[in-house]
Amino acid sequence: MTTSSLHDLKTLSIASLQDTFSTRYHSKDFSFARSEYLCVRIQIIALLFALLTPLWAVMDHLALPEDTLNTLLFLRVMMFIGLVAILLISRFKRSNRSSLLLSAALFILPALFYGAVLFYLPKDGHYSLVGYSFIPYLLTATLGIFPFTLIESLGIGLCLLVLQFCSGFVDGSVFSPRALQDLWLLAALLVIAMTTNHFQLGLLLRLYRQATHDPLTGLLNRTALTRHIEHHTPQELTPPVAVMLLDLDHFKQINDQHGHSVGDQVLKRFALLLKKESRQQDVICRYGGEEFLLLSGPCTVEAAMTHAERIRETCHQLCLTNLEGESVSLTVSIGISMLRHGEHLNDAIQRADQRLYQAKRAGRNCIMAGTAI
Ligand code: GH3
Ligand code: MG
Ligand code: MG
Repeated sequence: MTTSSLHDLKTLSIASLQDTFSTRYHSKDFSFARSEYLCVRIQIIALLFALLTPLWAVMDHLALPEDTLNTLLFLRVMMFIGLVAILLISRFKRSNRSSLLLSAALFILPALFYGAVLFYLPKDGHYSLVGYSFIPYLLTATLGIFPFTLIESLGIGLCLLVLQFCSGFVDGSVFSPRALQDLWLLAALLVIAMTTNHFQLGLLLRLYRQATHDPLTGLLNRTALTRHIEHHTPQELTPPVAVMLLDLDHFKQINDQHGHSVGDQVLKRFALLLKKESRQQDVICRYGGEEFLLLSGPCTVEAAMTHAERIRETCHQLCLTNLEGESVSLTVSIGISMLRHGEHLNDAIQRADQRLYQAKRAGRNCIMAGTAI
């Protein structure tokens, strides 16, 4: 393995750890997609736990003293109701925050149930935790089913470790070799669950990036833009937002004269130019073949015009060459509209598109914003 491939591997693993450690580097759109995955898993696990809850009563009848059965039945009914509530709520509330709260509740509820069982069961070595002592292990293993970040998984896992530690007080075995071995086993299970979380979340992110980004330019694709519009409330997309549609001029001729590979390089260079000339909050997307869309906000009409002019000018001055080293000239036409109050973004895009056609008719390599912006 060469030094550079080792370096690549190192940066790749650091990047993927950054991706799965916390939600810090996740886009808002990915967080929304993840909350949908979380909700599906919440429903399945809540249903499984809800089915297990009454079935477990058989174990109580076989192994526990008569006088504890009523209390346990009460706890069991409460847990069943809680699980059904989680199941129902997760069908309707799918926001990022509620999916996280619901998945936390899905772990907290059985953990509380276990805590109550520890408290109510007779403190007698013979009965202690018959059929219940594996709840922390079950919950820790279940962590691996969810696309949690490492920090989320670690948070829940540590709570379960504390619970396991406290369970040692029930029969006074807290510092016995057996209790320490159990803690060790639980910690090992947690590491395995977190490894599963890392790979699961990493895979989700990779698939998500492939589905939402254009492979040639690395910009967002049109599907991602549509999702961006769908998931942003009208308040978040409040004016002043400038919509810029940019179309490379006579691009077909570049392909015809210099070949598609040169055409591809030109598209990449133009995408790079757009990224360089834009702010972090601007959304840039490859809208079609040689068409790009830029959402710039918040900004004034004048700022949008200056921004567009800078892009047009820089594009005109780009030093591009074909495979023989001959220069390839490139220009861009731009249509601009400003999002109006209460207007759907698609309508503003439509107006920017009309302006773009005006710019093409006006001779290309120019910007059209119109009077009624
Ligand atoms: P206009 O100035 O009117 O926009 O003319 P144009 O030639 O740029 O527009 P036209 O729609 O006629 O042609 C666009 C061309 O872009 C046709 C298509 O083959 C090419 N194209 C679309 N996607 C890609 C791509 O990914 N790579 C390359 N190399 N060419 C592409
Ligand atoms: Mg074109
Ligand atoms: Mg076009």
